[in-house]
Amino acid sequence: MAIASQTTGAARAELQELAMRHLWMHFSRMGSYGRGQEIPIIVRGDGCYVYDEHGNRYLDGLSALFCVNAGHGRAELGEAAARQVSELDFYTLWSYAHPRAIELAARIASLAPGDLNRVFFTSGGSEAVESALKLARNYHRIRGKGQKHKVIAREIAYHGTSLGALSATGITDLRAQFEPLAPGGCHVPNTNLYRWPDDRHPLWAAAAIEERIQFEGPDTVAAVILEPVQNAGGCFVPPDGYFQQVREICDRYDVLMISDEVICAWGRLGHWLGCERFGYVPDLITVAKALTSAYAPMGAVIASDAIAEPFMQGDVSFAHGFTFAGHPVASAVAMANLDVFEQENLCGHVLAKEAEFRQMLETLHDLPIVGDVRGAGFFQAIELVKDKETKEGFDDEEAEDLLRGFLSGELYRRGLICRADDRGDPVIQLAPPLIADSEQFEEIHDVLRGVLSDAWERIRR
Ligand code: PLP
Repeated sequence: MAIASQTTGAARAELQELAMRHLWMHFSRMGSYGRGQEIPIIVRGDGCYVYDEHGNRYLDGLSALFCVNAGHGRAELGEAAARQVSELDFYTLWSYAHPRAIELAARIASLAPGDLNRVFFTSGGSEAVESALKLARNYHRIRGKGQKHKVIAREIAYHGTSLGALSATGITDLRAQFEPLAPGGCHVPNTNLYRWPDDRHPLWAAAAIEERIQFEGPDTVAAVILEPVQNAGGCFVPPDGYFQQVREICDRYDVLMISDEVICAWGRLGHWLGCERFGYVPDLITVAKALTSAYAPMGAVIASDAIAEPFMQGDVSFAHGFTFAGHPVASAVAMANLDVFEQENLCGHVLAKEAEFRQMLETLHDLPIVGDVRGAGFFQAIELVKDKETKEGFDDEEAEDLLRGFLSGELYRRGLICRADDRGDPVIQLAPPLIADSEQFEEIHDVLRGVLSDAWERIRR
């Protein structure tokens, strides 16, 4: 309360009123607020926890949408921002450079695999994906292959909301309302191994990418975009050899491989970059969110030398950019954030603790509603089912009632922020800050056990 007042000068009730009247929240059913239902207002963060305007504490089991990997309330990141403002508040990367963006680009290049040495900054994830897609098209065009413009992505994958990124996003409900999208988006099956028949070849989904390239015509395909672990649908991990096969296919057809690591980079899977976890080297990597642990908005495309090279010659330029990209303050925050990662060995912590985290979730398998537990690192999902034996899922109405009518609100009410998602089959997703440890795992377990047990009772009624 005191903090809410300090922050905005508005009292608590007033904040609710002002939010309902003036704030347009993203992906939110604004009409469901009011009539007794409050907008959740988060006023403070500390470590793995955040606090609402009433002083209630929540375990941030989603790192504020896969962002605050270093944990909340790190004064040193704010101090880095303040130092930067006193030195250079802002300068743009349009035709100029500044020290922090240069240092950060070099540092990111040193952490990226293979020859991914060139960094194109953006202000966030959708901009990074948009930039990667435009870069892929432009790369082919300046090599005399201007017909190559299509992008192959996976069903149910989320790659952002701008019209180009949305054409890669494979979620029909998100796409349909904004069509026509940028042309060229094609979709192939994902790696939802839980729903695959037992006798399906493990590399079936990789082969589907090759078939699609052939179907579209290799001369028309610019890129394939995939997340190391697909978020939407619930942490789909790849079968062994999947990315190696995709890499070979991309090379065979002169198609760029884009690793969309807006979630999977910066320690989420226990490595600096998600592709390291699965041992592949893409042509382009998109990152955002936890690059700064979200203390400042920032994203980037990391390009291989081979892809960047044609743009470094003569009078060629990549005619694309964003005013705020590579903002000095965000760059300084990113540098300080990566310092924290190094000093506290956050990637090592995730690798050391992920088995314990996973085992805790696996113990929930005794509940009839828990069908599958899957994921990697501190990025795990629980798929909910109506029948464990047959894997029968919920119909749309049941999923709506279960997720929106009960689970989301109840988990929050009992102090756990995580995601109850039905963009594929209903899942609960967990991605705590990378500083989370046994105490937080236990807390997550206890809330989930209680809420999922109650959810089952509700279904049976
Ligand atoms: N790509 C992936 C894999 C994402 O998960 C997201 C956002 O969650 C995006 C792109 C879009 O990022 P942003 O919301 O920063 O625009």
